[in-house]
Amino acid sequence: MNGEHAWKPFRETVDAPMERARAWKEQTGGKVIGHLLPDVPEEIIHAAGALPTAVEGAGTQGTQAQAHIPGYTCSHAMGAIEQGMRHDLDILDGMIIPYVCDTTRNLFHIWNHCFPNKSNEFLRLPKRLDYPGAAEYLKAEFSRLADSLCNITGRPRDDEDLAASIALYDRSRAALRNAYRKQREQPAVWTSERVQTLFKSAAKAPREDHLRWMEALPWDEQSQDAMQRVPIYVRGKVWDPPGILDLFDKIGLLVVEDEMTTGYRGVATDAGSDGDPIDVLVRRHLSLTPYTGYHQQPDKLVSGFLERVQGSGAQGVIFLNPKFCEAAGFDTPDFQKALENAGIPSLVLESSSRGVSLEQIRVRVEAFREMIAEDLP
Ligand code: SF4
Repeated sequence: MNGEHAWKPFRETVDAPMERARAWKEQTGGKVIGHLLPDVPEEIIHAAGALPTAVEGAGTQGTQAQAHIPGYTCSHAMGAIEQGMRHDLDILDGMIIPYVCDTTRNLFHIWNHCFPNKSNEFLRLPKRLDYPGAAEYLKAEFSRLADSLCNITGRPRDDEDLAASIALYDRSRAALRNAYRKQREQPAVWTSERVQTLFKSAAKAPREDHLRWMEALPWDEQSQDAMQRVPIYVRGKVWDPPGILDLFDKIGLLVVEDEMTTGYRGVATDAGSDGDPIDVLVRRHLSLTPYTGYHQQPDKLVSGFLERVQGSGAQGVIFLNPKFCEAAGFDTPDFQKALENAGIPSLVLESSSRGVSLEQIRVRVEAFREMIAEDLP
């Protein structure tokens, strides 16, 4: 496979994820289970014999969803309903919506009302991850989810199946971390846009196939990078508006680390194989970089964020806050203040493909790049 050709299955999956799911379903006769980001344990869906496929609402345009959900809802939730209303998600047999904020809690009820013939699940993630009872609670919730999914697929629940699925996902996470490392080392070939296509497609394609495609990538290809790139750290949810990473690549910003649910945050931590497989997934969940919307001691939240930024070597931070996301809005001022005290410049972008154009963002991002590039040696 030549270099360019090797990237093709990832792009095809991102462009038409439900076609990929349909082909899998026709081939295997299995169930396809959608899940809304973040933090639904895909391994549990996989071990039940189903295909997990992430549904990202951001970037979806349309007006049908507004008959069911207020107009001041984030693009992620609004776009998911829109995709459902226009039958883009008909191939799904079920949908899992995690509890991360009031929007997702309400979204589950709206979803159930709009799509009553699907097997829909609300995953009640703990809001306080540092409470002593969080692990026990989450274990019960993940076990309930595993039972429910096995009821949907008809496959008996088996710890060995789950352990095998966890091992597969850990291998995939390692390969994706490797790609991210290449993005830092060879950004002219392993552009942020390309690497995030790998990440995005991983959450939509059969993971065994995705891992095989990744092995065929041109890992040894060398490149000269003529551009001086400025390292940045990004915090947000999903890469919205579409094209934002291409913009970073073109103007010479290099994402050295991010906390996006579809980005590095999702692969930074492996689950491992030490003990009961549900316990393994619980430990992984509790050790993830806290998502906006989870509650933690404010000082611990801020100091942890600052440490990650300083450890990344970034010259500046971009907050890619989803428009109408209250949770992100609450966190940001404290983070910005801590960055300012540490002498690290930051830029807050309220992003959404609904009403915020890439051109509006471009001007601000270019100005930010110029400002932080002055600090480069
Ligand atoms: S946390 Fe924010 S972006 Fe995520 S679903 Fe809730 S409102 Fe939307």
